Amino acid sequence: MNSTTYPMHRAPRCTAHAKRTGLACGNPAVRGWSVCRMHGARGGAGPGKANPAYRHGGRTREIMDLRRMIADLTRESRDLEMRLRDCGTSP
Ligand SMILES: [Zn+2]
Repeated sequence: MNSTTYPMHRAPRCTAHAKRTGLACGNPAVRGWSVCRMHGARGGAGPGKANPAYRHGGRTREIMDLRRMIADLTRESRDLEMRLRDCGTSP
């Protein structure tokens, strides 16, 4: 790139890398995406109910995050209980 830099040259760049050379694409990324128009921006189905594969909502990102959080809390409380029991039995 030469010494003259226009605002357009400072635009966020596509993060895609070439399969053969490993070099970054470098094209300007589409606004709101991390990739350029040739590398999948604006492509694919939407999340949640906008996705054609949506069925009952029991596997959405929010629900899975919630499940993970509940599992973590359960595990932590179980660990805490075990630790408290160990403290009670030892002299
Ligand atoms: Zn690209």
